[in-house]
Amino acid sequence: MTQVDDCIFCKIVNGEIPSAKVYEDDDVYAFLDISQVTKGHTLIIPKEHTKDIYHTDSGVAEKLFAQVPKIASALKQSFEPIGLNLLNNNEEPAGQSVFHLHIHLIPRYGAEDGFE
Ligand code: 5GP
Ligand code: ZN
Repeated sequence: MTQVDDCIFCKIVNGEIPSAKVYEDDDVYAFLDISQVTKGHTLIIPKEHTKDIYHTDSGVAEKLFAQVPKIASALKQSFEPIGLNLLNNNEEPAGQSVFHLHIHLIPRYGAEDGFE
């Protein structure tokens, strides 16, 4: 499993940085985003360090995406949103700030969308 020393998401996978775990298997880890844009905002990442979608081989992508429906359904059940956005930012101009591939799962609640 390739990991990178100065990568915060590798540290989260290793347990060096605490996180609120949503799901874990041998290849994938999902956890709540530290600054949630909506309630239940979750990130799903491969345990294998890969910088962005361009540097991700299909096998890693396959295992990552394979878990999305299950995690999305779990979020729907727990938080009862009325919609859900999947988002993946690649490279800084597109909004990527952590350079370990991740997919955002963002539950949506309608006009109010906010939460305390
Ligand atoms: P990006 O902007 O790269 O698409 O998304 C990175 C996300 O990682 C941001 O939404 C940010 O809030 C989240 N994040 C950054 N550092 C941490 C952390 O230490 N723990 C958690 N749980 N999320 C983090
Ligand atoms: Zn990493």
